[in-house]
Amino acid sequence: MKASSLALDLLDLFLPRGCLGCGARLPPEEPQDLVCVRCRTLLRSPAPPRCLRCDVPLGTGQPVGATCLECADWPEILAFARAAVVMEPPADALVHALKYGGWRSLGEMMGRRMATVCPPVGGDPVVVPLPTTSRRRRMRGYNQARVLAEVVARELGVALVEALDRPSGGTQVRSGPRERRSNVHGSFRVIPSSRSRFRGLEVILIDDVLTTGATALSAASALGEKGAKSVRLLTFARALPFGAEGRRTPLN
Ligand SMILES: [Zn+2]
Ligand SMILES: [Zn+2]
Repeated sequence: MKASSLALDLLDLFLPRGCLGCGARLPPEEPQDLVCVRCRTLLRSPAPPRCLRCDVPLGTGQPVGATCLECADWPEILAFARAAVVMEPPADALVHALKYGGWRSLGEMMGRRMATVCPPVGGDPVVVPLPTTSRRRRMRGYNQARVLAEVVARELGVALVEALDRPSGGTQVRSGPRERRSNVHGSFRVIPSSRSRFRGLEVILIDDVLTTGATALSAASALGEKGAKSVRLLTFARALPFGAEGRRTPLN
């Protein structure tokens, strides 16, 4: 562990603070808690019935087991996606705290939630974190997907393989879905020394949030080209598309 991340972990332990979901003061007798009981209760799964493949809520009256237009153009290699919670308060604050706030230890609770929604995998799967660019990892000190992947791999009892890297690519915060799709195409590289560790196997691809799926599609395709049998995507949160559960604003 680097000295700087050790110092941050020590600060985590000793600084008085509020809940990372809502800011409410946390009970001092439980200093290890980062999220209050109310916020934990508010975290919820996407409402059923959901698309069998991409997990998006289909709306009432739809048959269980149907699929949807959101994932109709996903490549075959990406078998399905599952998310632990809907990307709405307080989940968005937790994602932000892990990704930008340096709250690495929050990954433990988030990763455990993810492991509980991962359907059983036959054979000998591997967990692969979605990489961030090396510049962003240096700024933050860690890759949030890797933090989550470590917890998921441990909870599921499977190996973690850092099979991908991302040599370039700018921030995508301001781009729309179409721009994102073209931006991320081809932006992942399969690390040659990792190939023998996932060839012919099911890959559980880990990221913090599924928004348009463009990033995951690109990574899944790269893994498929190098021999992965199939890829499933497991994220902490799912940003719901326009219209799902009454959502009134499109994703950006
Ligand atoms: Zn809270
Ligand atoms: Zn779908």
